[in-house]
Amino acid sequence: MKRDPGCIFCRIVAGEIPSRKAYEDDEILVFHDIEPWAPVHVLVIPKEHIATFYDVSEAHTALLGRMLALAPRLMKGLGVTNGFRTLVNTGVDGRQEVQHLHVHVMGGPRPWAKG
Ligand code: 5GP
Ligand code: ZN
Repeated sequence: MKRDPGCIFCRIVAGEIPSRKAYEDDEILVFHDIEPWAPVHVLVIPKEHIATFYDVSEAHTALLGRMLALAPRLMKGLGVTNGFRTLVNTGVDGRQEVQHLHVHVMGGPRPWAKG
């Protein structure tokens, strides 16, 4: 599996940086954002290092589908039943800060800190 030793999310996958995990399987890790915008704010990431949405190819279609399909189930499991937002920031103009593909999933009662 492709890994970038300098990447913060690859280091979270490897257990070198601690995280509050919400879900894990062979290909996907979900953990709580360290600076949540909403009462529940998780990041769904591929365990493989994919830097940005631009780097996704046809070969990743099933993986991306699984990542998205997880979101509603996860949110229900975390007690979020009144709706949530799903967001992928890409590149400089997309204000992507961490260069490892991630899907933000945010929910819970308003008001939220952001978003
Ligand atoms: P981006 O702006 O790249 O879409 O979002 C990156 C997200 O990763 C931010 O919401 C930020 O709070 C979160 N984040 C950055 N570093 C860490 C970390 O070490 N642990 C966790 N749990 N979240 C992080
Ligand atoms: Zn990475």
